[in-house]
Amino acid sequence: MKYISTRGQSPAIGFGDVLLTGLAPDGGLYVPEVWPPRLAELDVDRPYAEVAADVMAPFVDGSLTHAEVAAMAVDAYGTFEHPDVIPIVDLPGGAQLVELFHGPTLAFKDVAMQMLGRLFDAELARRSTTVTIVGATSGDTGSAAIEAFRGRENVRIVILHPHERTSAVQRRQMTTVDASNVRNVAIEGTFDDCQDLVKAMFADDVFRDEIRLGAVNSINWARIMAQVVYYRWAVGRVGRGEPVSVTVPTGNFGNVFAGRVAQRMGAAIGEFVVASNRNRILTQFFDDGAMTTNPVEPSLSPSMDIQVSSNLERLIFELLDGDGASVAELMSTFRADGHIELPAACRSRAEGWVGESVTDEQTIERMRRVHETSGVVLDPHTAVGVEAAERRAGDLPQVVMATAHPAKFPAAVEQATGIAPALPDRLADLFDRPEYYTVLPNDLSVVQQWIRDFPTAESRS
Ligand SMILES: *Cc1c(COP(=O)(O)O)cnc(C)c1O
Repeated sequence: MKYISTRGQSPAIGFGDVLLTGLAPDGGLYVPEVWPPRLAELDVDRPYAEVAADVMAPFVDGSLTHAEVAAMAVDAYGTFEHPDVIPIVDLPGGAQLVELFHGPTLAFKDVAMQMLGRLFDAELARRSTTVTIVGATSGDTGSAAIEAFRGRENVRIVILHPHERTSAVQRRQMTTVDASNVRNVAIEGTFDDCQDLVKAMFADDVFRDEIRLGAVNSINWARIMAQVVYYRWAVGRVGRGEPVSVTVPTGNFGNVFAGRVAQRMGAAIGEFVVASNRNRILTQFFDDGAMTTNPVEPSLSPSMDIQVSSNLERLIFELLDGDGASVAELMSTFRADGHIELPAACRSRAEGWVGESVTDEQTIERMRRVHETSGVVLDPHTAVGVEAAERRAGDLPQVVMATAHPAKFPAAVEQATGIAPALPDRLADLFDRPEYYTVLPNDLSVVQQWIRDFPTAESRS
């Protein structure tokens, strides 16, 4: 299996390189050169890890054997608390909820990250090398990455978060991890400052090579690949071969794009509902094929507060019929003007995609109503999805991707339902555990030096 860039200017490479590289040198995102054969006969009534191995094996072909990926999947999904790994829960009178949040950090990002940690370790061991992963987080990604990479031999991980600007649950999920290869840095600044520091580190060739900088952000193909699995799993179990409608609470478009890949590989998905909060750039895109950047507005579903969804480029590549030069041109126009419009001819290829935008008030109201009528407590991200699905209810059975555990967003849940959601047992003592992090100024050279000193930079607060 070879991968090509959505911008058409980088050579095709194998899975191991795609895994460690992330972004293509031409600025594009990697996609498979040819789609793997449709897995028409996939038996979804087996354990999740077995289904996962069958779905992922074609994508790692040439780098890992089916047996190797199967062993990793058993190990990765053994960290999930629910016996089904990803249970499917009936919302009375409504959709089926696909609960993606039973992993170590209670959000769907664990599904991909738990595989990614193991894939990185194996590939780095094969190459007898190590990397230092540096990432910025406003919440969910950082904790999922730390949990996935803690204790891994060939990886050190440094996560920057904005000092005193994340929720206490989110911060503690990162800072209470006591592992010699994990460091948390609280930057005196905003999330954007953290992200700019990471970008600047990647742009500094000398530093990048010196510490062998690595990234695990949401454009990494391996994360998409791991997410394809639960679309096959849920669509197969709910639809039994008949088409279903899939609603996905969306931010960077990684999750829902994995659904598109599953559809290509034979999952019977009749429609995608892309659910957004008040940041409605994607809603506009699916309404009229145009995209205009606007300032990000904070909402009750912070993991979807995004202005530009990086993984959308993979869908645009398909809509433009795999023409990398046109993708590159469109993306550079977008960067320069903050606005693009898709050519009319390729808009019709987006048939089967719709967008819905949900306000905070509607989110709260949906959480309240679902709790009142069914007793189910939704987190605000999932509630955006349930509201969007409700508006689109039609002939097809509906599934909604439930992306976070309600206890991760207790303030919104309490506002909507009046109850304070309890953390699962394994996190029940989260607020009693010691925290380990270092506060640093928003200063590139200070942060770089601190990372260079990693082995001795032990800091306990
Ligand atoms: C990351 C995240 C999302 C958005 O997922 P994308 O793949 O970026 O579209 C939605 N909900 C929760 C809880 C998340 O953590």
